[in-house]
Amino acid sequence: MNLIDVNEKFATDEQCLVYLEQMRWPDGIVLCPVCGCDRISRITRKVTKDTDNKRAQLYQCLEKTCKQQFSATSGTIFNDSHLPLHKWFMALALVVDAKKGMSAKQLQSHLGIGSYRTAWYLCHRIRKAMDVDQSEFPKMTGVVEMDETYVGGKTIRRGKQAGRGTRNKDIVVAIRQRGGPVRFMQADSVRAEDLKMIAEAYISDDVEMIVTDDFKSYPLALKRFEGKHHRINHSLGYYVRGDENEIHTNTVESAFSLFKRGLNGSYHIVSIKHLHRYLAEFEYRFNERKNADRFQKILGRMMQAEPLEYKAITASPEQA
Ligand SMILES: [Zn+2]
Repeated sequence: MNLIDVNEKFATDEQCLVYLEQMRWPDGIVLCPVCGCDRISRITRKVTKDTDNKRAQLYQCLEKTCKQQFSATSGTIFNDSHLPLHKWFMALALVVDAKKGMSAKQLQSHLGIGSYRTAWYLCHRIRKAMDVDQSEFPKMTGVVEMDETYVGGKTIRRGKQAGRGTRNKDIVVAIRQRGGPVRFMQADSVRAEDLKMIAEAYISDDVEMIVTDDFKSYPLALKRFEGKHHRINHSLGYYVRGDENEIHTNTVESAFSLFKRGLNGSYHIVSIKHLHRYLAEFEYRFNERKNADRFQKILGRMMQAEPLEYKAITASPEQA
């Protein structure tokens, strides 16, 4: 479902809510979120302009001791938002398709959201739903490529300074199973021990081959995979042989370059504090880019995500 479909299909909050109801209660049985009771009555109320984002369709639990009123969005990220559901849906469709990411500023202007703060908070909540837990990912097998880079304002040449044990929080490692998903994560340093920890957490012992560049930390970091680790040398050049086991890191680099271009183009300055959320966003989008149901999927994740309190992310919105 693309942006135009979303805009047409979910033009009103009522349309959005019907969809969310089907998502939350797929067999049509509405359950009270407080007591679990299925004796529920429907309340339809008139929505006027000044009731803003109040749901037109409400349910009431008939259990005497409960009497809870609720809607399909109760207990979800969408519930306490003043933003109309239609705009939430549009925001999701935009963000999930924005290859190079979308800043709060861009989202604010595309959706005509009044305050930057609202748009910024919205972006962060979508990012949180895109944060895929490691347990949802099997360890990588087949041919795996691994690469690392620095992000943020500082320009640090990796060789010398890193070798002296500089610890920088803005080091990003990417690991990609060729033809499969990518994972981005922050590393404490580019020293072998830190790269080793990451490699072993994400790469299966059954891997066929791991390809990295000739950065000096890799042989020690990947000692566990000895015999399967191959290094390329960019400065010497290499050629594409065309078989699936060829030695290159092109596919991890292409995932990485979208992330870097996104950070430079759409976000400008990413506060290191929020870097992990941006990594989650880019990783998610890259891995879902060919999934035709990516809009429905992110919507489902939003419904299941824990509400993220504004004060939990706080600091200065202007930095992100
Ligand atoms: Zn109840």
